[in-house]
Amino acid sequence: MPKLEAYRDVVGAQTLEELRTLARYLEGKSVLHVNSTAVGGGVAEILNRMVPLLCELGLVATWDVIKGGEAFYAATKRFHNALHDDAQEAMPEDYQVYEETIEQNFARLRLDAQIVFIHDPQPAALVKKRRDSNNHWIWRCHIDVSRPHPQVWDFFKPYVERYDACVFSAPAFARQLSIPQVLISPSIDPLSDKNRELDRTEVTAVLDRLGIPTDKPLVTQVSRFDRLKDPLGVIEAFQMAKPYVNARLLLVGGSADDDPEGAQVLAEVRELAQDDPDILILSLPPTSHVEINAIQRASSVILQKSLREGFGLTVAEALWKGKPVIASAVGGIPLQITHQHSGILVHSIDGAAYWIRQLLRDPEYARRLGENGREHIRQNFLLTRHLRDYLLLFLSLDHPGEDWIHL
Ligand code: UDP
Repeated sequence: MPKLEAYRDVVGAQTLEELRTLARYLEGKSVLHVNSTAVGGGVAEILNRMVPLLCELGLVATWDVIKGGEAFYAATKRFHNALHDDAQEAMPEDYQVYEETIEQNFARLRLDAQIVFIHDPQPAALVKKRRDSNNHWIWRCHIDVSRPHPQVWDFFKPYVERYDACVFSAPAFARQLSIPQVLISPSIDPLSDKNRELDRTEVTAVLDRLGIPTDKPLVTQVSRFDRLKDPLGVIEAFQMAKPYVNARLLLVGGSADDDPEGAQVLAEVRELAQDDPDILILSLPPTSHVEINAIQRASSVILQKSLREGFGLTVAEALWKGKPVIASAVGGIPLQITHQHSGILVHSIDGAAYWIRQLLRDPEYARRLGENGREHIRQNFLLTRHLRDYLLLFLSLDHPGEDWIHL
């Protein structure tokens, strides 16, 4: 894995110097991250790189994953959907399954790091184990909880308020809470296999290996097969645009250990696409980073037609590769795309179809959008900025209530 020094060419010497300066004040501090899956989805993607770099900076960073059975993941998926959308409900028994699984996890998790950093609702109730003591607890919420189902939010809120602080990805996600709220957007790692430069030969080799034809421009969405990513809407938009363009749609997805709905959604996608030879559906293992990198690079247009979104790392990944992105104006996506400057924001299937046509017909305009998008990601959404924000957050925990911290 690349060391911090390797980022110098991408982000500049000053950024690295700043990280090292901040980290000196945190040397030896233990930070335990806990989430609900080691692979699949954006949180695992980030922790994979964040944890080694925090260690390199002198902190004692570790990462653990809560374990649960099928009923637990079914319950937390319903919670996830209900926290995103007030029209979705949990089942009455979900609360008990959730509490029981959290209790079982106490036996195997050591929650005594100086900073316990809990990601998302699945492990949120671990905070029950918090002693009155001197360690700090942070809840990092990666999803948009601005319009949750009231009952599900009422269940989580008392847990959330036992943390020292919570972190949201975008201002619009925040809630009325009695604890401090911090805004930190996620990031991508420009040197990971998912995002590093690939030359044309590598890209072609991957596409050949996966059997993806490149005789027509590719319009691609990379996402878990999840209803909130609206893969069926993507197919509809493509089919509306198709009479006017000569292109292929590629839906690339995979599953995450904590998402039990994937297989069902994939089956629905396959059924809707079955009569269209220009739609390719690819289900990849969650470790297919170079493959996704190559697919994004080989695509002419990238879609992210989510109905709800946390931050939407796939958007940052595509923009970083200089690709024109058409994405829904939901969640953290408008932080990444300024409409018609660094990408295209859409609000409907019709809108997505219209812009697929436009971008495929005007490659020069599409190229400019991608170029602006890449610069926006460089300045705001690379891993080094994210690391700096976390270091500042850790420092602030030792200075509660202070607006200024003198180092
Ligand atoms: N991803 C992947 N394989 C897939 C689908 C997605 O590796 O089949 C990656 C994708 O490249 C991105 C992350 O998983 O890095 C998804 O993060 P995002 O924030 O877009 O969505 P989430 O899955 O967290 O809702």
